[in-house]
Amino acid sequence: MEVNQIDIEEIVKKILNDLKNEPKENIKESNSTLPSTCRAAVLTDVKKIEVKEFNIPEINDDEMLVKVEGCGVCGTDIHEYKGDPFGLIPLVLGHEGTGEIVKLGKNVRRDSAGKEIKKGDKIVTSVVPCGECDICLNHPDKTNLCENSKIYGLIPDDNYHLNGWFSEYIVIRKGSTFYKVNDMNLNLRLLVEPAAVVVHAVERAKTTGLLKFNSKVLVQGCGPIGLLLLSVVKTLGVENIIAVDGDENRLNMAKRLGATALVNFTKYSNIDELVEAVKKASDGIGADFAFQCTGVPSAASNIWKFVRRGGGLCEVGFFVNNGDCKINPHYDICNKEITAVGSWTYTPQDYLTTFDFLKRAKEIGLPIEELITHRFSLDKMNEAMEINMKQEGIKVVYINDRF
Ligand SMILES: [Zn+2]
Ligand SMILES: [Zn+2]
Repeated sequence: MEVNQIDIEEIVKKILNDLKNEPKENIKESNSTLPSTCRAAVLTDVKKIEVKEFNIPEINDDEMLVKVEGCGVCGTDIHEYKGDPFGLIPLVLGHEGTGEIVKLGKNVRRDSAGKEIKKGDKIVTSVVPCGECDICLNHPDKTNLCENSKIYGLIPDDNYHLNGWFSEYIVIRKGSTFYKVNDMNLNLRLLVEPAAVVVHAVERAKTTGLLKFNSKVLVQGCGPIGLLLLSVVKTLGVENIIAVDGDENRLNMAKRLGATALVNFTKYSNIDELVEAVKKASDGIGADFAFQCTGVPSAASNIWKFVRRGGGLCEVGFFVNNGDCKINPHYDICNKEITAVGSWTYTPQDYLTTFDFLKRAKEIGLPIEELITHRFSLDKMNEAMEINMKQEGIKVVYINDRF
């Protein structure tokens, strides 16, 4: 091929231009001055979120400033939106967030797994244990039970204001646990926190010795938590998974995530019929292990009846107090010799397992990213809350459209 002078000139010009453009963009990235203010969605009254402008505070040597990319809306956010359980108003909600480090205090060198961090890294946050209580001091592997533990999105308003992820920027404080997650896409990063909740529940379940390849595992409640939990169980290699819910769309999603039997409880007029349906789906015996992932007391009663003699269950659904439920100590516990475990949020260490779960789930083709069904910008957060309350779709998330 003949190359004439003009072509060469063109090529050289293009290369020079490309070279010129590339570093220019990088310089712009690293030296860009941050805005002095940003917007955050503030819960200003019961069921009322307003977008407010705040100064971006100066961070100290132990803090980080993170530009928010997005944050999932959680059941806890909804409870707070409705004025319970903590009644923290005004408040910037959102704890399932992810974003990019834009400013780094000089003492913050590594994430909670020991990985070096720098400006431009993507992170997710976990809890901020108090480090001083009996649990933190004497049971450091159980920091999920620290009663003074803080979580972004439930930190009362103060001079920083940017204390939750429903914002354009967030200040990550000293003592926070957080992880670098550059190797995960935005959808997966948005699922990390709720996935950590279910990974913890499955770790609790494993302690019973009842989760095996050939176990028949039942998951009651196919909201985001139930569906993610089902995905963890599937990813572990459990073949027989029974999903119980009252919504056909959610049951269909359960099937796509690996459920092998679906039970729609609305089709049965009483608990005996429902128990029969569950037994039919588990070789006439009942489930080896059952996860209770609803916040409904009657469902928490029913779950005991779905489990076989010698089986076990895990209560995952009650992150707020939704009331008492009735169980029969003779039939439900003693006579069947059931092993029950409770599960409460997660420890920072559960995040490491969670990253592997999310990657593995994607590798085996589980459509977990499709759990995110609704995306809202900051000025639409009231709508996001309402959609969540109506339980339309599955996972509702905030996406920062100015990222
Ligand atoms: Zn959550
Ligand atoms: Zn503590």
